[in-house]
Amino acid sequence: MAKLLLAKPLVEKTTENLKKRCEKLKEGGITPCIKVILVGEDPASKVYTRSKKRLGEKIGADAEIVNLPDDVSVEEFTTTIAKHNSDKNVHGLMVQLPVPSQLSGVDIQSLISPEKDVDGATEHSLASIILGSKGENSLLPCTPSGIISLLKFYNIELVGKNVVIIGRSLIVGKPLAMLMTNYNATVTLCHSRTSNLMEHTQNADIIVTAIGQNSFLKACHIKEGQTIIDVGINRNSEGKLCGDVDFDAVEPIVSAITPVPGGVGPLTVLSLAQNLIETTEKNFS
Ligand code: NAD
Repeated sequence: MAKLLLAKPLVEKTTENLKKRCEKLKEGGITPCIKVILVGEDPASKVYTRSKKRLGEKIGADAEIVNLPDDVSVEEFTTTIAKHNSDKNVHGLMVQLPVPSQLSGVDIQSLISPEKDVDGATEHSLASIILGSKGENSLLPCTPSGIISLLKFYNIELVGKNVVIIGRSLIVGKPLAMLMTNYNATVTLCHSRTSNLMEHTQNADIIVTAIGQNSFLKACHIKEGQTIIDVGINRNSEGKLCGDVDFDAVEPIVSAITPVPGGVGPLTVLSLAQNLIETTEKNFS
């Protein structure tokens, strides 16, 4: 039976630490403040923004969802971002994706000040990782940062390990590949055009799936002793939340695995709160 890599103990420990740091900032006259811009009524986006607000408030920060209508104009959208960028009482700013089609041509990340980029998604934040940062010079993208924290928490070594990441998105796969390289892992980044996926996964020490397909990673892809990190958030045919891994088939074979829900998901929100406190301490106090 595999060790379950649960987010809960790490979330509890880190939340306590963030609460104390937030309290200290408040004693110095600064209340960390995050604004999450939500355009429209997408139900999943509403759930994600609410969980960000909840955790922000739990650590003692000000957390506000800025609701914009589904048909907001490009001008009103960019003006709203500019307003919060220049507000010295706002320390973290992010836009919940996806946005409606009239905003699809807007380079959203370039509008956000790098020091308020709590999502770790601006060019500045991403370029810092390529230049070798593990978060010293910039805010890290939330999901990759959460995965690194989870591996550290459960003492799973990255140095010299073969890591296979499946999925090359800009929010998970690509930055995670760079970040893990900075931790001295040997990383193979696979995607929909990879021709011999099974050969790669069977040679890995750690496999990360970030694809968005229920039961994609099966027993035939894996071997004993591996660590599996499942980033996927999907619904199965019964409407139940599940990841990219065929959990029932894979779990009995590998050494360690993240469940869905309860694995990577809560760490993404945790990283956002961590980025908020870090940038407030570093850039605004
Ligand atoms: P995406 O949806 O932008 O892209 C999917 C990626 O999967 C692409 O790079 C594609 O090349 C790859 N892919 C698709 N089919 C493939 C195949 N058959 N073989 C190999 N690779 C294949 O990626 P995303 O935005 O990173 O989202 C991926 C999943 O992770 C989704 O389920 C999303 O909901 C989830 N997600 C979870 C969190 C979290 O906090 N747990 C955060 C971000 C994304």
